[in-house]
Amino acid sequence: MKIYNSLTREKEDFAPVGEGKLYFYVCGLTPYDHAHLGHARTYISMDLIKRYLLHKGYKVFHIQNITDVEDKIFARAKKIGTSPLELAEKFQDEAMEEFGKLNILSADAYPRVSAHIPQIISMIEKIIENGYAYETGTGVYFSVSSFKGYGKLSGQKLDEIKKGARVEPDETKKDPADFALWKKGEDVLTFDSPWGKGRPGWHIECSAMAMEYTKGRALDIHGGGMDLSFPHHENEIAQAEAARGEQFAKYWMHTGFLTVNGEKMGKSLGNFIVINEVLERCPPYALRLFFLHSHYRSPVDYNAEAVCSAQVAAERLFNFMDKAGELPKEGGAENHELRAKLIAEKESFYFAMDDDFDTPSALAHMFAYMNACFSELRGESPDYPAIADAREEFSKMLWIFGLKKEEKKLGSKEGKEIDSLIAQREEARAKKDFARADEIRGKLSELGVALEDTDGGPRWRLK
Ligand code: AMP
Ligand code: ZN
Repeated sequence: MKIYNSLTREKEDFAPVGEGKLYFYVCGLTPYDHAHLGHARTYISMDLIKRYLLHKGYKVFHIQNITDVEDKIFARAKKIGTSPLELAEKFQDEAMEEFGKLNILSADAYPRVSAHIPQIISMIEKIIENGYAYETGTGVYFSVSSFKGYGKLSGQKLDEIKKGARVEPDETKKDPADFALWKKGEDVLTFDSPWGKGRPGWHIECSAMAMEYTKGRALDIHGGGMDLSFPHHENEIAQAEAARGEQFAKYWMHTGFLTVNGEKMGKSLGNFIVINEVLERCPPYALRLFFLHSHYRSPVDYNAEAVCSAQVAAERLFNFMDKAGELPKEGGAENHELRAKLIAEKESFYFAMDDDFDTPSALAHMFAYMNACFSELRGESPDYPAIADAREEFSKMLWIFGLKKEEKKLGSKEGKEIDSLIAQREEARAKKDFARADEIRGKLSELGVALEDTDGGPRWRLK
């Protein structure tokens, strides 16, 4: 499997840092407002990567921070008269619910900044001790020129960074490009530290919390949106490596932006569409499939019509699963041509996924795989065992893509009616009254129930 590593700017053969768990760190939300489609884009991409690693048999330990100590949260909390931690929790909970609907697998740890101040302080102390940071009257700053590798991720030279970087202004800094590890002063949320009351700078949380969860081992993969590459990720590397003297993360993966009319979607830009608004109009799988049509590193321009077409396409995939599930598992004529075609399409699917998660190409092979099955089913004597195997393979592909049909919810009255009809049908079958059994199957079908007779008795699901 090859992964494009933003650090080396090359597609590399994937080789984990060590044995056992694979540490996967993703920069999480700054929850001061509703999550938008740009967030969905990044977290669905990261979920795809994680799912594929899991599919490959890796034991993934996924860490995703929650930035609950931050200026934007403070400002919003003050404005609406609530506490910053409450505000952050509210929007984080809401986002988690939406990500759940989008079938994004939960992380193994969601560390919050507010709960990791001791770890942050101890990393800052280590950085100072190693000679990479200094204290002034306003805070503790990382000295970028003292860290040799500064700029290695974003590929910039220190001079260029100094000239062009958006820097946090502060007169006490030795160099305008230096950044804050600790900000002194009181605000709505303040913590004690060896440098007096204050709060951490933004970047230090990820370095400190990542190392807390890996117990000091390098991360295998660190991911986030492209916008975080500089300065956030550059600073994460500088801090962690200055503190520990060892590599922080082996592979860096960045997702392309979700744009609206070519412009990045963002809260501060005011052009954002919240996730819930889209989910009111179309099912979550439509949005997922819409994103999968683009490579995770490419920008995607939001297009409501394309999301609707993705819904239709996804329903064809589910329809195949349903249809194939109702067929006999044996019989028909063995079709070698079909079997060879299915093997070839499946191999191409995995080949594309192994090539830095090339979902547009993998999707094309997945559809070709399904279409081959459908055309076989239109024939006189379809190769049922081949279709049954194909369905199993197909369900793995759907899982990797996180495409899942929405579960229709039944009222308890309908549930009871279905149970009663199934029992009546079983009775009819026991009496060999097959006409009656078929009639009941028809009724169930009208209620939207697909019935399957298995060795363990009848099984049903909603169509
Ligand atoms: P934030 O809450 O703004 O700190 O962002 C959380 C994550 O979402 C980061 O990894 C961002 O890079 C990512 N993100 C924010 N906006 C977009 C966008 N328009 N397209 C893709 N990713 C985004
Ligand atoms: Zn981060």
